[in-house]
Parts: sequence; structure tokens; C-alpha cells
Amino acid sequence: MIPYGRQNISDEDVAAVVEVLRSDFLTQGPAVPRFEAALTAATGAEHALAVNSATSALHIACLALELGPGDLLWTVPNTFVASANVGRLCGADVDFVDVDRGNWNMSVAALQEKLQTAAAAGRLPKVVIPVHFGGESCDMAAIGELAKQYGFAVIEDASHAVGGRYREQMIGACQHSDITVFSFHPVKIVTTAEGGAALCNDTDLARRMEALRSHGVTRDAQQFQQQAHGPWYYEQVALGLNYRLTDLQAALGCQQMERLDAFVERRLALAARYDALLADLPVQVQLRSVEQRSAQHLYPVWMNPEQFDRTVVFEAMRSQGVGVNVHYIPVHTQTYYRQLGFDWGQFPEAERYYRGALSLPMFPDLTEAQQDEVVAALRRSLDQGRVAS
Ligand SMILES: *Cc1c(COP(=O)(O)O)cnc(C)c1O
Repeated sequence: MIPYGRQNISDEDVAAVVEVLRSDFLTQGPAVPRFEAALTAATGAEHALAVNSATSALHIACLALELGPGDLLWTVPNTFVASANVGRLCGADVDFVDVDRGNWNMSVAALQEKLQTAAAAGRLPKVVIPVHFGGESCDMAAIGELAKQYGFAVIEDASHAVGGRYREQMIGACQHSDITVFSFHPVKIVTTAEGGAALCNDTDLARRMEALRSHGVTRDAQQFQQQAHGPWYYEQVALGLNYRLTDLQAALGCQQMERLDAFVERRLALAARYDALLADLPVQVQLRSVEQRSAQHLYPVWMNPEQFDRTVVFEAMRSQGVGVNVHYIPVHTQTYYRQLGFDWGQFPEAERYYRGALSLPMFPDLTEAQQDEVVAALRRSLDQGRVAS
């Protein structure tokens, strides 16, 4: 089976992890700050905090922004559940902003309209989380403008977008946001097995997130509220968690970061080749702006569900050895969110996209021969899945 995503692990990656295993520190040694330095160097952000998943990074980002009970967090339905769940984990209420047809990212028009209504009702969001779907950035300048106008904080969920660029700046530079979050899960762009990071340019936010990822404890004397008892002294200044990344993982991440640009270039080359190979097939590919560089985590296509039975196409692809996937089941239709009062029909663009969505294999080691196989299989599968009109 050709998978939809797969990590690339080199001999150097293996050696770097083994070296840590034989060293003094399996966790909280020198590799974590080295990995963080690689992240700030690659993005231009001032601070990077490595943690054990993107979900953890989103959680400490929300906590650092003091999201809590009575507050509101908005994100998109076309995302992984974690983007919304972190709001609930902070005790806040969650709502959604529909996506644009074509690039399937947060719609600025929908956001603006929802903000106007929310302002009139006195119920504005405290935090908005745009998600760079498939690696293609949302319109961050427009979202950043609205953030200033309406006074909300912005966390970019860039789980798909490490190595991508928005206009002149790398994603993660936080030019139009407060915090940007990356994921290092194996299907994403670079991996630490499990892992994530929160990036920002604000020293105070960085300090707070640093404490939150490790029990709310600090060893930085400048942050002590009490007189230090001695050289062993540490102080818990907030309520935090254990969200730390290990040195084993960070060593892998450091090695992977050296290939970040090569990974993204390879993904973009494969995407351009898919674009050409699919040109005569009845599927839509994601609209990507020429002002941006997608990190191309996914290669999603959309078939009109009135013309094709997506389930038939999905199963035909799998039976031909092509591991397609579907991103994403709209979050507001999940049982947990329906129990909170959401339901089908509320975010029609995300739902329309979902009904025809299919993610084709996309990862650096995908060969051109495999890609030809995927496209040939898609051609046959669409024939099988065409609904009688
Ligand atoms: C993968 C993903 C996450 C969660 O990442 P983890 O590192 O697995 O916690 C969050 N948001 C989006 C959009 C993702 O794709």
C-alpha cells in the first residue's frame, strides 16, 4: 500500500538518536535548546518552545493568552479536532468560522461577518485559531488586521506548514499573529515522532509558555517571587503540565530540520507534477496563492459529490493499493460538539468540501512511478464511482 504520508529517516537521524541514548541526558539535555534554535533560525521567530505535541503547544498557547471559562475561542471546522479541543480544555466556549471554497482555509469574509455580529451581541472571541490547511497559509494580513480592530489574539495552527512561507516571511515568524504552533508527528513535514512547538516574538508570552510546559516551575531567579532558599531552589509560579520534549526526540528533530528545505522542495515538485497529471480529471485541486509557498503537507483533491460517490472512489483507491485519506470530518459534526449544540448544516462550505474530499499520497520519498500509479488508480476509481445522472 502506498501510504498518504510517511516520514523520511536517514542514517544520520538514527545516529543522532543513538548518540543521545549513550549520553548523560535522555531528556532536558542540550538537544532541546539546539532544536529550538533551529526552529527560530528557520522561521525568524524570536522564541521557540519545544513540547511533546502540537496539541500541547496549542494548549499552553491558549493558557499563556489566559483563555479561560467565560471566554470564546474560534477556529475552523476543516481541521483536526485538537484545534478546537484546546479551547474546551481551558474551560472556554468554542465556535467555528466557515472556510473559503477553493483553498478550504478560514474565510476572511465569514470571519468579518461573524465578528460584526459578535460585536453587536457583546460576545467577541478572545482567541482565533486559523489553520494553514495542507500547508497553504491563511490570509494572515487580513486576519491580523481584524485582530487589531476587534482585540482578539491569534494562534496560527501551522501543524501542516513548517517550511512554508506567507508573502515575505516564513510561517512561524508570527508577523500577523501572537503565537504559531507546529506539529512534528511522522506524517507532517519534519518529525520528532511525537512533538510540537510554540513560537512567538513576545518575551513575556515565551516565559509563560516555558513555565506551563513544565509544571509552572521556573529556575529563572528573575521570575522568583520569594527569596531563593539556596542553589537548589526552584519556584512554582503558575499551574502547569508536563509537556516536555525529550532529548532523544529533539536530536531527531535537529537532524530533520537540516533537510526541511529539501523536504518542502520535493513536496512542491510532486505537487506540481500532480497538478499536471490531474489536469484532465474531474477533480479540483487546492487553490494556492502565488504570493505564498505552501509546505504541501497534504495533496487534497475535491470531487463533486453530486457526480461521484466518494466512498466508492475511496474504497476503489484502497483496493488498488493507494492509501488515500480524508481531511477533515468537520469538527462541529463530531459527537462531542453535537452534544454541545452544534449540528450538520451550520458550516456549509466545510461540509461541502468534506463530502468530496480525498487526500492523495504526498511525502518526500514518493516516487514518480508511484505517483503515476496513484493517478492511474484515481482515473479508474472515478469511473467506478461516477453516479448515474
Ligand atoms: C496534526 C495536527 C494537530 C495535532 O498535532 P499533534 O502533534 O499530533 O498533537 C493539530 N492541528 C492540526 C491541523 C493537525 O494537523
